[in-house]
Amino acid sequence: MTSLQPEDVRKLLQHMERDTLSLYLDTDPTKPENQRRPEAFRIWARHELKKLPESMARVLTPKEQKNLEAQSEMLLKELELLKPQGRTFVFFSSPQWQLSAFYQARLHQNSLHFGAPHVAPLLWLMEEYARAAIVLLDHQQARFMTVHMGITEGIQEEFLYLDTADYPEYSLRATPIPSGEGAVYKKGSFGDVFARRVEEQVHRFWRDAAQRLEKFIQEEDPVLVLLAGEDKARSFVRGRLSPAARERVLEEGVSFAVGAPEREILLKAKPLLQEGERQREVRLVESLLQEVAAKGKADAGAGAVLNQLREGNVRLVAAAWPITREAIYVCQHCGAYFEESHEVCPLCGGEMTRRSFATALAREVHLKSAQLELVTGKAAERLQQPPYGRVAAQLRF
Ligand SMILES: [Zn+2]
Repeated sequence: MTSLQPEDVRKLLQHMERDTLSLYLDTDPTKPENQRRPEAFRIWARHELKKLPESMARVLTPKEQKNLEAQSEMLLKELELLKPQGRTFVFFSSPQWQLSAFYQARLHQNSLHFGAPHVAPLLWLMEEYARAAIVLLDHQQARFMTVHMGITEGIQEEFLYLDTADYPEYSLRATPIPSGEGAVYKKGSFGDVFARRVEEQVHRFWRDAAQRLEKFIQEEDPVLVLLAGEDKARSFVRGRLSPAARERVLEEGVSFAVGAPEREILLKAKPLLQEGERQREVRLVESLLQEVAAKGKADAGAGAVLNQLREGNVRLVAAAWPITREAIYVCQHCGAYFEESHEVCPLCGGEMTRRSFATALAREVHLKSAQLELVTGKAAERLQQPPYGRVAAQLRF
């Protein structure tokens, strides 16, 4: 089961009919309650799906009621066949379409909802893990791996896991260097020529690897790249990357065999990526806040950022995680956001509604194709200081 595509998410965000079942299940196979048969998540879902049509009978029209019953039935059948492939199962069902996916991030709770698609938890699931790359190099092999980094701090073993679907096709191997079988490697002219030939071939391979890495960064778009393997290979390849690609590559590398077991690689890579990510977040927030102070291409604060998003001005949003602001107020008529509640819209006199801030932020970010960075630790502390309101945006214009 693949993850949801941007067009799926857009469809969910634009689906205004109140006819959709939204289900989020904690299917984490490492939890003891999910190792029993039947698993805890299955018991919960069965129970809730049977209860829901009854509990909503009073508020729904007969047609809506029939619709809900049919979808609950269908989902109950679907659930019998469900095999967990991740920590969170997400399912949306309207009378016209169904969407489902597994995610490695955790929501820590089950939920079932009928009405307009309940999209906010999905958006957070999608943003919670950032993609990074580990590239292993020596004089004849290059191995490319993508990994996910959980940014919600805390639980160590969750920080990094392999995105196994992606990397194998990127493995790269140099043509073997003819070793001159039986040749005696002597000091002197032949030895020098041979050594030069070997070196040339190795350098050609590294240039090739650098090109592949450049392409890999373009295609996979990792937030960080850790170069691992031979020192010489690392500095050679690093030196041949474009400035844009080099910016993603961590200064610090780690040295071990290209063929090392995945577990060992992840264990060594983890602290370096963790530290690299922390520093990247701090740099990002610092530069945003400098830009805000200079009244440049940045803005900060819950209301200001949402209004900039709404107008399509935002390239990137940095928000301190977890999101603590609960509400934001929006004008039904002109769409302007306000941090405080007003009787009527101060701009146009339109009617005002209260919305969840996290949902509004995630929704605007997705609909306007902006990028969302959830930051923790020191970067979050900086964003927290007044007057920034835990959220800042980099503007396009
Ligand atoms: Zn208004």
